[in-house]
Amino acid sequence: MDFTRNEAGALVWLTAPSLAVPGAVHGFSTRLGGVSQPPFDTLNLSFGRGDDPAKVRENFGIFCAAIGAETERMVCARQVHGDAVRTVTADDAGKGFSRVRDYEADGLITDVPDLPLVIFTADCIPVLLFDPVRRAVGACHCGWRGTALGIAARTVERMVAVYGTDPADLRCAVGPGISRCCFETDGDVPEAMRASLGAEAEPLVDDHGNGKFHVDLKGINRLWLLRAGVRPENISVSNACTAHNLDAFFSHRRMGPARGSLASVIQLVPCK
Ligand SMILES: [Zn+2]
Repeated sequence: MDFTRNEAGALVWLTAPSLAVPGAVHGFSTRLGGVSQPPFDTLNLSFGRGDDPAKVRENFGIFCAAIGAETERMVCARQVHGDAVRTVTADDAGKGFSRVRDYEADGLITDVPDLPLVIFTADCIPVLLFDPVRRAVGACHCGWRGTALGIAARTVERMVAVYGTDPADLRCAVGPGISRCCFETDGDVPEAMRASLGAEAEPLVDDHGNGKFHVDLKGINRLWLLRAGVRPENISVSNACTAHNLDAFFSHRRMGPARGSLASVIQLVPCK
């Protein structure tokens, strides 16, 4: 089942069927429904790309209100294409939004309610995770380097170690990002995937025989989740290709550096 398209006025965002369970709220932004001017039009959710910070704050307010997340308490990843996973506590509230981030991490996990975890992408793959039993959430940014490092599996492993998560309980979403159709690469990308996944990478790589390849980053992240013990029926994978649909998404590959960023947010909500 593909992701659900949600609308509130001009705002459009996606939600994952696997995460449509009580206990957490989440959303994957599109570029629709914000207030930023070109080339950030309109729902840019990055402070780091040259957009007017007041507009970015307003955009976050619009998006978070729609999905039910606490804007002011957002904790943002500081993404470096690595595999570090940060255990986020209440002390981190607002970091990357209203306060400086004193860490580098492509993955974030927390068991604190009302503390939204935020990942930024524009072609890279966002992955959100929810353990409804131990009551913990996770989010990670999977570019091709992070994907080769298995950041999605590292995030599951940290939830197991820190919160006692049973991977069989985890609900996961592999969000909108560049799909196999548009992710053309040189040999370095498939080489990195083969080095970490062996023969299991082969069905997820098309070798065109001319030094060019197409790689299924979403499929590889799904594979990492399966390897970490997540059940296939608990993983939703978005069909949306960011590079294919510039009306709805920002794409680094298609737009270059003059663009906005998408955000993926997940937040535990308090027990009623
Ligand atoms: Zn595509």
